[in-house]
Amino acid sequence: MNEERIIAVQAALRESGVDALLISVGSDLPYLTGYRAMPLERITALVVPAFGEATLFVPELEAPRVDTSVEVRPWGETDDPFDRIAAGLPSDSTIAVGDQMWASFLIAFQDRRPGARFVDAEPLMAPLRMIKDKDEIAALRDAGHAVDGVADHLSTVRFGGRTEREMSRIVSDLVLASGHESVSFAIVAAGKNGASPHHEGSDQIIEPGDAVVVDFGGRVRGYGSDTTRMYCVGEAPDGFVEAYAVLEHAQRAAVESVRPGTTAETIDATARSIISDGGYGEFFIHRTGHGIGLDAHEQPYIVQGNTEPIRTGMAFSIEPGIYIPGRWGMRIEDIVVATDDGVERLNRSSRKLRFVE
Ligand code: ZN
Ligand code: ZN
Ligand code: ZN
Repeated sequence: MNEERIIAVQAALRESGVDALLISVGSDLPYLTGYRAMPLERITALVVPAFGEATLFVPELEAPRVDTSVEVRPWGETDDPFDRIAAGLPSDSTIAVGDQMWASFLIAFQDRRPGARFVDAEPLMAPLRMIKDKDEIAALRDAGHAVDGVADHLSTVRFGGRTEREMSRIVSDLVLASGHESVSFAIVAAGKNGASPHHEGSDQIIEPGDAVVVDFGGRVRGYGSDTTRMYCVGEAPDGFVEAYAVLEHAQRAAVESVRPGTTAETIDATARSIISDGGYGEFFIHRTGHGIGLDAHEQPYIVQGNTEPIRTGMAFSIEPGIYIPGRWGMRIEDIVVATDDGVERLNRSSRKLRFVE
């Protein structure tokens, strides 16, 4: 698996006239080596030359944790790792640098290779990472199934009287109990806080009549889940049910519009036009979705201006929302994957408004 991906990235390097790929922390590393490095000041770096063997440089103390088919070269505590890594990089070459590399690392490489041209590796990596293979889709599917169980379980939990922070902790615990190896986020935003899409759980107490945005996800075998469901404590606030009907329609239509050959921006326009026709256009303040995989947000972005054609194997969220400042917010989010003949939803829990105590 890693071998095939490295061969594919080498072909991409040669095609774009880049001499080597230089990756440190971030998800390109596990994608190419199967190893996720801790983001430490001790550098871990993968060098993939356009021709020849890839090498993974790791701090000596991390070496026992590394299990990869790539050749591993540990560096010791008193070595200069940048000298050793740069030794494999020709002087006046073009080097593509991973988008998560620390600025201090890049500056150290620029010092050692002043004649080299450093370029962004994302345009090389994104086309590969965007198309998920069978195993990646299986991991995304399992992650989706696990959060669906959490969404359903939450319908039986009392929200009223708890703080957002307390609810967020309950959601996190359920995400772990459902089989995720880690929690990526657990957004609980009640009442007017729901109008801020990435609201962090506060000490605000959830009260009867609050609509609560619950948006959560974690990782299964390295791959992300991400779903949003809406919970109303006792009853829905004024005007909420009507807007929710519009949002449900927009979300469903956008999901159903997914198929190979359509573009990312067309999917966004599908959701947006229904919300605009419903009279809430100015309150849908973010893009319709984002790709998901080893990163919680990655390409393709489902946004106006992105003419990227959808291809089989692309996985992304469809998450339109309506946010009325000072009153409430709502969002419905599912992960989908494009298939040869359309779309597979990876989240299947009910999208109906959920009434809780
Ligand atoms: Zn988000
Ligand atoms: Zn989300
Ligand atoms: Zn999302």
